[in-house]
Amino acid sequence: MTLPFTIESQTGPARLARISTAHGPVETPSFMPVGTAGTVKAVPQGILEDLGAQIILGNTYHLYLRPGHELVRNLGGLHKFMSWDRALLTDSGGFQVFSLSELRKVKEEGVSFRSHLDGTSHLFTPERSMEIQIALGADIVMAFDECTEHPAERERARASMEMTLRWAKRSKDYFEAHKHEVPWNSVPALSAENAEGMGHPTAYPTAPALFGIIQGGMYPDLRRESAERTVELDFPGYAIGGLSVGESRAMYPDLRRESAERTVELDFPGYAIGGLSVGESRAKTMEMIAVVLEILPKDKPRYVMGVGYPEEIVQYAAMGVDMMDCVLPTRAARHGLLFTSEGRINIKNARYAQDQGPADPKCACRVCARYTRAYLRHLFVSAEPLAGVLNTVHNLAYYLDTMRSVRHAITLGDLSGMLSGSVSLT
Ligand SMILES: [Zn+2]
Repeated sequence: MTLPFTIESQTGPARLARISTAHGPVETPSFMPVGTAGTVKAVPQGILEDLGAQIILGNTYHLYLRPGHELVRNLGGLHKFMSWDRALLTDSGGFQVFSLSELRKVKEEGVSFRSHLDGTSHLFTPERSMEIQIALGADIVMAFDECTEHPAERERARASMEMTLRWAKRSKDYFEAHKHEVPWNSVPALSAENAEGMGHPTAYPTAPALFGIIQGGMYPDLRRESAERTVELDFPGYAIGGLSVGESRAMYPDLRRESAERTVELDFPGYAIGGLSVGESRAKTMEMIAVVLEILPKDKPRYVMGVGYPEEIVQYAAMGVDMMDCVLPTRAARHGLLFTSEGRINIKNARYAQDQGPADPKCACRVCARYTRAYLRHLFVSAEPLAGVLNTVHNLAYYLDTMRSVRHAITLGDLSGMLSGSVSLT
């Protein structure tokens, strides 16, 4: 069994299901916190467990550059290295190469690039990406894809999609030949607690699973073709890439302020505010997801990479998406932006200076149970490290509780309350 996926309940296209990994169960729809460099920034692993995170992400690009995948393999793999015995998913490194590294050059063979850390030259190929992810020991490994920039001309999007398909095939060939080389394969990886959560303690995989990635830019027909041809390659799960909101700067008030101040210094006769057409891009994103979901097999997990805002992940789960990840809750937290049942709040705002209420009156997390907005604001404006910790813990609690509510609503057979915009937490 490559990756057991059991659908337990369905409401319309939305599914409540369970993925059984060698490191415990993942209940879906699931939001996966991003642990870029072997850490979900600012949050100790024990707190992630308390928050109910069953799977987190690691970033291949970062871990390859530092501390290096060979070192991680020698230390027993990423689970052991970071003391996380629940499920792990690693990305292919493709997205980060495109968004972070310098002087990258895409060829048929792969992508050559310079490290953003020290300028050294490297080459990522589909085979290399598989080798690194297997060395890290992820439970779910992603095929090496080319992230099409947005916007992209149609011909460019098609060429990129074709390249991604060829790379998917090469990824799969290498992966199948080497997947049993994961550092945890020869040792019993499953803790008693995780085995119990699985229901069937013996029915867990002994090797990782490789997911294919659908590309195709913002062209519905290319997305459809990418989905059809990726499904022909037959993966145990599928991801929809190239829709990430993670790099959007539109939402950071402090960056907006700085942008405004520095643009004004340049002294123009007038000023425009750009990058706010979120509504349009969100509709387009939803269209792309809908087109692809029609084609992806219903009995396998479906993962939308790099999304999104709380109301978006609820919407996508309702459409039948099983897995999502995004840096938004963690990155926004470090900028003082909190997601709450009353909407987004910027804790830096002076209006919270004497606010005795919790960050979110409807949230049951340890931060909301203990600290006031006034204190969180004080920590943030004083640049205390605890600010990042507490804000991140709350935001992750909010996202994970939102998905828990979605799963509950699916068992009740009614997602309408979750979709009406008022996300109520159970
Ligand atoms: Zn909270």
